[in-house]
Parts: sequence; C-alpha cells; structure tokens
Amino acid sequence: EKLKEGLVKTRDNLVQKVDAIFSLNSNLDEEFYEELEEALIMSDVGVKTTQDIIEMLRKNIKDKRISDPEDAKGELKNILMDIMQRDKNLKIIPPQFPAVFMVVGVNGVGKTTSIGKLAHFFKSKGYKVLLAAADTFRAAAIDQLEVWGQRVGVDVIKHQEGSDPAAVVFDALQAAKARKADILICDTAGRLHNKKNLMEELRKINKVIEREGENFYKETFLVLDATTGQNALLQAKEFMDVSNVNGIILTKLDGTAKGGIVIGISNELNVPVKMIGVGEGIGDLLEFNPEMFVKALFD
Ligand code: GDP
Repeated sequence: EKLKEGLVKTRDNLVQKVDAIFSLNSNLDEEFYEELEEALIMSDVGVKTTQDIIEMLRKNIKDKRISDPEDAKGELKNILMDIMQRDKNLKIIPPQFPAVFMVVGVNGVGKTTSIGKLAHFFKSKGYKVLLAAADTFRAAAIDQLEVWGQRVGVDVIKHQEGSDPAAVVFDALQAAKARKADILICDTAGRLHNKKNLMEELRKINKVIEREGENFYKETFLVLDATTGQNALLQAKEFMDVSNVNGIILTKLDGTAKGGIVIGISNELNVPVKMIGVGEGIGDLLEFNPEMFVKALFD
C-alpha cells in the first residue's frame, strides 16, 4: 500500500496513458507502438530502454501471435519484471554477518536520510546496527547522521569535521567487532565534481575495510534521487567509474512522475535497485520488489 501511495505520481502519469493505449488500440498496430514508446519515454524509462522494451514486445507479440490488448499488456508487464530481475541480487539482507555497507552518493540525494532509514529497517528486523560518519567534509553531515542515530537508537562512530574518513571507518570497524554489531553502515563522501579526490578517498576506505574487516561481508550502495530522472542514470555511470557499486537506493520516488527511471537503471546499468524511498518518514524506505512495483504501477 505504501508502495502504491509512493508511486502515485508515476502511476498517474504512466498508467492512464498505458491503459488508454492498450484499450483503444485493439489491433496492436504501429500507432500502438508509437504511443507506448512516447508514454514510456515520458515516464523517464529512457530512450534506449524504451527501444529495448518495444523491440521485445514486438517480438513476443509476433511469436506468440497475440492480438488481445489485455494479453499484450500482460506481456509488457512480464518484460518489465524481467528487466528488473534478470541476473540481479536484489536482496538487501546480507547472506552472512557481520556485514559492512558503504553508502555513496552526491549531497542532497537523500543519502543521510536513507542511511537512517536503512538502520531502522535492519534494527526492526532484530539486527544490531552501527553507523560510521565517514562523510567528514561537512559538519552538518556528521550532525545529521547523529540525529538519525538517536532517532533510530543506534550508535554513531564519528570524528571531527575534516578528519580522515578512512580513520573513521577504521574506528567503526573496531567498534563493530568489539560490540558485536551485525551490520555497519558507513556514510561516505559524494563529491563527484572532484572525481580524483573521491576515487582516492573511496580507495583508502576500501583498503581499510579489506584489512580490518576481512571477515565482513561487503557491499557498496549508491544513493540516487529519482526526481532527477535521466540525470540519475548519468550520475550512476560516473560513480561506477570510480567505485564498485553493488546496489542502488533510489530515493524520492513519491515526489516524481519519473518512476520509470527504475526500469532504465535496471536495464542500462548492471546494478540492481535494492531499496526505494517513498517519503521522508523513518519507515519510508522499502525493499524493492519488481513484481510489486509492476503491480503497483499497473493493477
Ligand atoms: P543528503 O545530502 O544526500 O544526505 O540528503 P538528505 O538525507 O539530507 O536528504 C535531503 C532531503 O531529501 C531531506 O529533506 C530528506 O527528508 C529528503 N528525502 C530523502 N529521501 C526521501 C524520499 O524518499 N522521499 C522524500 N519525499 N524525501 C526524501
């Protein structure tokens, strides 16, 4: 329900059009494909992904000799689900413990908020969570993480503003071991405009994690803002140049009609969307489930 509410803008934008397209065009002709293409692009699915989808749909409709628009719509839903699931590890719960998650993303995308929500998500499942304030560039980032730590009821390891992020992560790993934390989440910097520094900083943090967290399960999540549409995709590509990214946390889906970006990201980057943000509240970060996503959009 929360998902459906969060997707209401995308749904209004996409579904009404899709419904019209699939009901009016009983004969699945060229006009049908053109209108569908336009609707997908308008929802920020992206040009390339839209073309991929249309091509697959054409093929399936032909191969399966589909003539009923309802069946064609079912086919479209299957294609979308397949794009979001294909060869992807969508699971957010780590397969082993302890685990350390690095979270990257540029300022303003909702990184700190998402880390707070993520801490709450794991804590409410019974895991012991620890946060590391390794985005030391802005004092506000450290303070904000601290506020989230208090709200959620988890400890935050921090140093002063301007201190070495790798040193914060070092301390946090020691603390995680000593306190027997299940999951350590590290807030790291996202100064994409200075790629060389960012790369160096992330490399140093990774080195510390390799050395001090050798028995930790490790993943890096990139936080992207859905309201930025196709820019989110470009940002992801930039980050993937400088660091290894295992999963996407896509925020602010509630504030946008551009929810189709989920499909574009899944198709164009070989990275799963693992969590989606659908509001500002502590519980407004949901595990991403492609089947439910497609259902929330179309049913
Ligand atoms: P950061 O600079 O990347 O750490 O961004 P913040 O975590 O400070 O978030 C920036 C703003 O986005 C805050 O006002 C958050 O409440 C808001 N925000 C984050 N995630 C979501 C979301 O999923 N939905 C909505 N509506 N707002 C969000």
